[in-house]
Amino acid sequence: MSTNSSISESTAHLLILGMGGTIAGLAPKPEENPLQYEAGKVGVDALVAQVQSVVPEGVKLVSRQLENINSRNLTDAHLTDLGLTVRKALLEAAVKGIVITHGTDTIEETGLFLQVTCGKLAQTQSKRVILTGAMLPSNAPGADGPSNLLDALRWASTSIDNCPGGIYAVMDGRGCMALDLAKRHATALNAPLQDAPTSSVGLINPSWLSGVKAVQAAWNEDLPIPGAGDWPWVEILTSHAGARPETIAHWLKTPVQGFLVAGTGHGGFHDDWAQPLHQAMTQGIALVRTTRTGAGATLRNIPEVDPAGCCASGALTAPRARIALQLALNAAKQANKAGKPLTWQDFFARIADLPEIR
Ligand code: ASP
Repeated sequence: MSTNSSISESTAHLLILGMGGTIAGLAPKPEENPLQYEAGKVGVDALVAQVQSVVPEGVKLVSRQLENINSRNLTDAHLTDLGLTVRKALLEAAVKGIVITHGTDTIEETGLFLQVTCGKLAQTQSKRVILTGAMLPSNAPGADGPSNLLDALRWASTSIDNCPGGIYAVMDGRGCMALDLAKRHATALNAPLQDAPTSSVGLINPSWLSGVKAVQAAWNEDLPIPGAGDWPWVEILTSHAGARPETIAHWLKTPVQGFLVAGTGHGGFHDDWAQPLHQAMTQGIALVRTTRTGAGATLRNIPEVDPAGCCASGALTAPRARIALQLALNAAKQANKAGKPLTWQDFFARIADLPEIR
């Protein structure tokens, strides 16, 4: 981890954490083919230097490179490091807000992770944590990174429309709660916001703000951040035409701890998976159902009665529900160690039952 700053860290500042991604990407032939590039090549200090002269007056910036990766390679350990860094920074008086530059491929996972582990702290500290990224590499003509970073810095530093402390994301001139962010298009500049309820970065709209407050009112307590080597192993399995029982049987021979079944329609799975999934649950493997359709909620006992112990994901997509299940399994383990008889289902339900803004 390196820190780049021309100011003392005790001076009030915004902290910019660099994780990599296309926003830090470089294309060898940007004019000819801007979409052929390598992510995570430019340091966060250089990204900040590009916008430094236009940030609102008086706002001091400190940048810190946590990683410089293509976010498709994001690991559990990266999330642990990011979460612990964000928590520590939220508690520092000099840090007035945090911006995270991140790859868009897995920004969905990181958004949910930060909401569930740092969301309450950000709210009670009245500080905004804002994820941003880009769809075009930093040297492409019309690169979107600088304007996204500038919008994120502006949003993190101002009190526009009383938007409370919390975990947000900014792309393409719009902001949303980070837990609503998901990449839904391969190339569009607003890809990570395509189906998120958003508000214009410069003008928070009241109905969106009341949705934010409803989510925050329902989120009472942050869950623990798993240690780098303590994340439970959870796999996403997609049900499809021609699904075979051998797929599940294969996993039963591994130490996997949870399955996130991305099912068809309401989140149902192929009948040929019923017996091996039942066997999985008997072996103590956690089971959550979601829908592979990309929209709509997956509800308990719809369309059929769920096997005992199986949870439905609510509005959580498969990547979000996978992180939620990992955090729920870890939280239950910690709670049990502390003598509290809470189950992973108790923790998972808290995340899956958060109100939808839409
Ligand atoms: N593959 C890149 C990443 O997620 C895509 C992006 O940042 O837009 O790091």
